[in-house]
Amino acid sequence: MTSNAKRTYIPWPVGFAAAAWLLAGAASPAHAEWVRRVTDGIMGTRITVELWSEDRAKADEAIDAVLKEMNHIDESMSTYKPSSEVSQVNARAADGPMRISKELFDLLSTAQQYSQITDGAFDITYASVGYMYDFRNHVRPNEAQIAKALPAVNYRHVLLDAKKQTVRFSQRGVRIDLGGIAKGYSVDRGIEVLKSYGFTRAYVAAGGDSRIIGDRFGKPWIVGIRDPRKEEGQVITRIPLVDAAISTSGDYERYFEEDGVRYHHIIDPKTGHSASKVRSATVIGPYATRTDGLSKTAFVLGPEKAMEIYNRLDDIDAIIVRLDGTVIYSKGLEPAK
Ligand code: ADP
Ligand code: MG
Repeated sequence: MTSNAKRTYIPWPVGFAAAAWLLAGAASPAHAEWVRRVTDGIMGTRITVELWSEDRAKADEAIDAVLKEMNHIDESMSTYKPSSEVSQVNARAADGPMRISKELFDLLSTAQQYSQITDGAFDITYASVGYMYDFRNHVRPNEAQIAKALPAVNYRHVLLDAKKQTVRFSQRGVRIDLGGIAKGYSVDRGIEVLKSYGFTRAYVAAGGDSRIIGDRFGKPWIVGIRDPRKEEGQVITRIPLVDAAISTSGDYERYFEEDGVRYHHIIDPKTGHSASKVRSATVIGPYATRTDGLSKTAFVLGPEKAMEIYNRLDDIDAIIVRLDGTVIYSKGLEPAK
């Protein structure tokens, strides 16, 4: 017998025991695995949750809890639902101060910060004009309608009182819409839910907004950035990420074309028109609420001005695809010289 054969030789009783142990292991609850669930229909988008689990039942329970939390956010923040808290605010906040939930109050405060950081490019009152667009049905307001509604677009019209936890609109005609941060926020909430169950390696995505906690056992997660003008699945680059959030806004999501002009769902708060100064913007940072909010800036301000802002923010990196298809990267992503 050669030494090599010796090493691989297993007397049959031991071999049998090992096989039995393996079979038992496959069915036991201690079996560890990556668990992934994809769900359509919450916030009109696709939700993906993936996590490393040593207990399948607990993983399923945690994912159920994530989806429940996202449903709750959809119910309270969607402007498509007249009963939502945000719809109630739009109906009544011009009449006087209105007490709102802590959750909504905090998100409105966060939105205001993003307006300040982005020179007003991010502005939830875009909806004062934005509500007249219907991208699915190719409906847009005419110039007179835009001009009439435009004075109501300004984040400074949203008056927040932290002590009383109230919101008030300083004038009539103001409407808010959290569509620019709600998905990112729901991803952050989803991650919090998974953490509360004790999971330390996970990925949560809602449409173009994702966040990752932990790594894949010594390896990063690899997130692909879609090429805006190519088929789904084709990417311009892949980014390795650990403990980070990433959001992509693209002009290929929800748009229509008329007379050669591309109208899509990011609105320039200064003009009330569809803002299309880039093809896509990807923002990387610590929280998905933040990366979601900041990814709109490039469309409104253009690639150079937006990159200046991203480069000023220590916790943010970005990849912008210009209208001509060229790509620019923030300082943190440039190769070392
Ligand atoms: P998605 O809705 O697929 O996440 P984006 O992250 O690009 O896409 O966000 C686009 C959404 O942001 C719009 O549908 C609208 O609800 C909202 N929005 C549009 N313009 C602005 C703006 N100037 N400031 C803040 N939010 C905006
Ligand atoms: Mg988004």
